[in-house]
Amino acid sequence: MARIFNFSAGPAVLPEPVLRQAAEEMLDWHGSGMSVMEMSHRGKEFIAIHARAEADLRELLAVPKNYKVLFLQGGAAGQFAIVPMNLLRGRKAADYVHTGYWSKKAISEAKRYCKVNIAASSEDGKFTYAPRQGRWKLDPEAAYVHITSNETIEGVEFHWIPDTGGVPLVTDASSHILSRPLDVGRFGLIYAGAQKNIGPAGLTIVVVREDLIGQALPVTPGVFDYKVQAEADSMSNTPPTYAVYIAGLVFQWLKKLGGLGKMEEINVAKAKLLYDYLDQTEFYHSPVAKEDRSRMNVPFRLRGDRLDGEFLKQAESHGLTQLKGHRSVGGMRASLYNAMPVEGVKVLVDFMRGFERKHG
Ligand SMILES: *Cc1c(COP(=O)(O)O)cnc(C)c1O
Repeated sequence: MARIFNFSAGPAVLPEPVLRQAAEEMLDWHGSGMSVMEMSHRGKEFIAIHARAEADLRELLAVPKNYKVLFLQGGAAGQFAIVPMNLLRGRKAADYVHTGYWSKKAISEAKRYCKVNIAASSEDGKFTYAPRQGRWKLDPEAAYVHITSNETIEGVEFHWIPDTGGVPLVTDASSHILSRPLDVGRFGLIYAGAQKNIGPAGLTIVVVREDLIGQALPVTPGVFDYKVQAEADSMSNTPPTYAVYIAGLVFQWLKKLGGLGKMEEINVAKAKLLYDYLDQTEFYHSPVAKEDRSRMNVPFRLRGDRLDGEFLKQAESHGLTQLKGHRSVGGMRASLYNAMPVEGVKVLVDFMRGFERKHG
């Protein structure tokens, strides 16, 4: 069996030990005689899996007691609507920071439910930086301030947490959650689709401060009402059981590794390998402002697009896959999520160096 190095932006690489354990437990989970996929979500086996996953996630992120952790469906894009439905709390407007492809989607969805104020935007720089807080125009009456703390496509990451005064800060952390420690107490709500840095597609994680829930718009579907789901331990309807199980194994893997502080050290080292190389060659180029570069998603271009096809073809033959950039920005993109080993980044940089030697 040969595993390749998969640089996909999502669904993405998972830790090999997690996949091995899932394979071992596939037909008979812990002597239950069943696969996790076959279990009732109301049975004691699955309830234990779910409870452990939540406890481990709380421990990893040091989630304060006054926050609910919800395991939902509908993806991060579902949250683009579900957040305003739940968090407007009788207010008319919300502030959004526009930093790229995903913030744009969040904004256009929110507009169906409220007035959206664009508090800041990096569109003038083609979304290659994170707007400095000094220039934001925040509305003190806004229901919340929404940011996309890692723009997966443009490769721009907030390495700082904005100060929004008394207005709750909401972040779409889909593509960098669990890549570093996070001060959860500074946020009103954090959401993330699992398929980037946590587990399989189908699971969406929401961490929300308790006092913000319970005032959903009357049209909110019950299964997307945070209060309803919080009171039902995320089981108001059938949760994505197998995705919760795999996410739980990933949480255990992270704990064994040493937690998010250790994970961050490794991620910093991986990103440095690639960016250092990009910065000392004329052949490749990273368009993103240095201080805002994402550790998770690294877009880069070859000088002139003429060699893009050849680059991808040869990369593939070296066991390096999914390096094509998103169609909206072109070029290449290497996603270096938690489960991408340092070795994978080394092999990538070696390949890039060789390609440059041949074609530069
Ligand atoms: C992938 C992604 C989304 C969309 O997630 P879905 O699970 O497909 O809804 C939203 N926001 C960010 C930052 C993403 O990376």
